[in-house]
Amino acid sequence: MKIALVGNQNSGKTTLFNLLTGNNQKIGNWPGVTIERKSGIIRNTDYEIVDLPGIYSLSPYTIEEEVSRKYIFEEEPDLIINIIDATSIERSLYLTTQLLELDTKVIIALNMADIVEKKGVYIDINKLSKMLNTTVIKISALKNTGIEHLISHIRRRDILDNPHSKIYSKSIEQAIDKIKPDMRHSRFIAVKILEEDKMFSHYQSDESTTLIKKLRHEFDSDSEEVIAGERYSYIDKIKEKAIIIKKTKQSVTDKLDRIFLNKWLAIPIFIIIMTLVYMLAVGLVGGITVDFVDTNVGLFSSWLGGKLETINTSPWLISLICDGIIAGVGAVLNFVPQLIILFLCISILEVSGYMSRIAFFLDKLFRKFGLSGKSLIPFIVGSGCSVPGIMSCRTIEDEAERKMTIVLTPFVPCSAKLPIIIAFSSFFFSEYQGLIAVSLYFLAILVIILSAIIMKKFIYKGKVSAFITELPEYKLPSVKYVLRDVFDKTWAFIKRAGSIILICSIIIWFLLSFSWRFEYGVEIANSMLAGIGSAFAWFFYPILGEYSWAATVSAIQGLVAKEQVISSMAIIAGLSEDVTNGSLIFSSTGIFGFFTPLSAYSFMIFNLFSAPCFGAIGAMRRELGSTKQMLKAVTFQTLLAWGFASLVFILGKIIGGIF
Ligand code: GDP
Ligand code: MG
Repeated sequence: MKIALVGNQNSGKTTLFNLLTGNNQKIGNWPGVTIERKSGIIRNTDYEIVDLPGIYSLSPYTIEEEVSRKYIFEEEPDLIINIIDATSIERSLYLTTQLLELDTKVIIALNMADIVEKKGVYIDINKLSKMLNTTVIKISALKNTGIEHLISHIRRRDILDNPHSKIYSKSIEQAIDKIKPDMRHSRFIAVKILEEDKMFSHYQSDESTTLIKKLRHEFDSDSEEVIAGERYSYIDKIKEKAIIIKKTKQSVTDKLDRIFLNKWLAIPIFIIIMTLVYMLAVGLVGGITVDFVDTNVGLFSSWLGGKLETINTSPWLISLICDGIIAGVGAVLNFVPQLIILFLCISILEVSGYMSRIAFFLDKLFRKFGLSGKSLIPFIVGSGCSVPGIMSCRTIEDEAERKMTIVLTPFVPCSAKLPIIIAFSSFFFSEYQGLIAVSLYFLAILVIILSAIIMKKFIYKGKVSAFITELPEYKLPSVKYVLRDVFDKTWAFIKRAGSIILICSIIIWFLLSFSWRFEYGVEIANSMLAGIGSAFAWFFYPILGEYSWAATVSAIQGLVAKEQVISSMAIIAGLSEDVTNGSLIFSSTGIFGFFTPLSAYSFMIFNLFSAPCFGAIGAMRRELGSTKQMLKAVTFQTLLAWGFASLVFILGKIIGGIF
């Protein structure tokens, strides 16, 4: 037997799925799209169960809805478990009314039984089951109650056929009867024909067209709207008879919202919170740890170098290990303490429910720019890493908005960009480093809004999707969950240092230590890397006010990984002037000595907003679905970053000249 798990997002499908299947799970992708496909065997049975993407109706507006609908029609499960979040039953029943029109049997699992009554919702299961004419079972997927009951129903095959109750007004029911095709799901298809759903347009006939016209005349509105309206009034009737909703007294969430989501205070509070987060992570913690770690890495490096020398290791190997690997990987690992603090703060803000609530609040503002609160979710995810951020754009219904969000997500400073921000701001803006860091964060928001305006005007025109996600409540973050989240993200960062950064460090060391004629130990100005950098240095002249091959090659390496910019600078600085004690990238006599606070700022801007790393570019290509669109997007990002960085540098020069 094949069973499909169908329900709204966040109704508890995945929780129930994991509970039912235990370890018997298979995860893959749906054919043709990159949405995760989970299937498994219910414990102690041979029933296959599939966790479908969360949907709100069977009229596909999003890729998820399309996938779920296709599954139901093309793979014909024997049974649908319609899982409903009992605390928002009204909204969930809309999908139920559609499912009950199918010929596939439906059993309803009323989830969240553990919290419904706390929310002041009382449901008469018997009445509900009678009115819907189908089996309804109360469960809690989280607390594991009612599950045995659910399984035993499935085992006994004790499930009624769908009743196909006549829920619409007479003229619609008559029309349905007239145009019902002689095949499976006939009632469902008849309704779809009346709704003029494109996917069923090949069933249209002269008769149905006349009927649709007649209905439009009778109701003075689209039949799609009329049918939706009648579904809702049917749901209202059910609600009246089977559900009692008591007003609970004002919850903590409501009280907090009055402050955090206050019309005037919400944005200032958001700014203050983010500023504090960055000042804490970058300013305070960074100030303490950077020098400490840096000095110790330097000491370790010279100690190891000395040891290797005493055992007669050849000079080039010592140089590879100390000046290449330790300098390059160490430069990145320097930032782990700040990252931990930053991840910790963001994770707490996310888990406590604050982030999604501020996204909801900003919804209205973002709509003015062709985005919606939905785009904020990818942005928030993107503050960790752009790749999952870009992937989470799938939940956006509107094609234009989805594509715009994909292109905009890499503008959010991801954790790999943080070493760039911290290294430059701590050296050039010492006591203000926290403020400078947060200024870049807000600059990112500005760049996103500006780009959205540009793209909306010239590239992607479309309407904005509805923002349906309901607000979660504020809750105290679970320590275990937060720590795990912080650990996972930090570990991912460290792993990158140990893999991609390590390999790049070796390559950079090699290119720096050899000339084009493969002579070892040349002046680094004659190295291969210097040659490559010099060829492109003109590109950065308006940003730096200097032809610097070293800064040029470092910035280009941002394509591989953004941390690599700093890692490469550390190796170059180290090799160019025998720094033995710590890797002082910006020593005044060194190769990066030309940097001023102004050019540091404009260089950061370029690195933050130009093309993201290859990983993110790959994700953009997959999600945009075309190489051409990806190339356009990357060009757009890079030109924008270049223009913006040059503008800042030139304006800064002019203003500096006046004062
Ligand atoms: P999906 O989007 O339908 O797959 O939903 P999930 O399974 O991811 O669940 C969404 C959220 O609801 C998670 O935070 C779950 O822990 C929570 N949840 C799921 N089932 C229950 C339940 O029975 N009771 C309560 N209180 N929470 C639940
Ligand atoms: Mg899920």
